[in-house]
Amino acid sequence: MVRAVAPVERGEEVCISYMSPLQRADFHARSSRRRILQTEFGFHCLCDICAEEDKDKVEADDHRRRRVLQIEEEWGELGERQKKKKEEGRRRRFSF
Ligand SMILES: [Zn+2]
Repeated sequence: MVRAVAPVERGEEVCISYMSPLQRADFHARSSRRRILQTEFGFHCLCDICAEEDKDKVEADDHRRRRVLQIEEEWGELGERQKKKKEEGRRRRFSF
């Protein structure tokens, strides 16, 4: 099932992401993403973002994707620290 987040015109192509930048660190940049799609999925991506010719827009998109990856890593590290703190607190409570 696909849920659209914006109105879709009759006949308009609907694209999906083959992979999240959170799944692979090298999927955030257009150049590496296109290479992966070509070598692993066998097609040259021409979605709006991959086909964009304005270098500033491509760079801004790559930057946003890298930032999503960074935030995910930071939250993951924060979660691990919180988990360790809880475990240490639990150990202290139960050791006499
Ligand atoms: Zn694409």
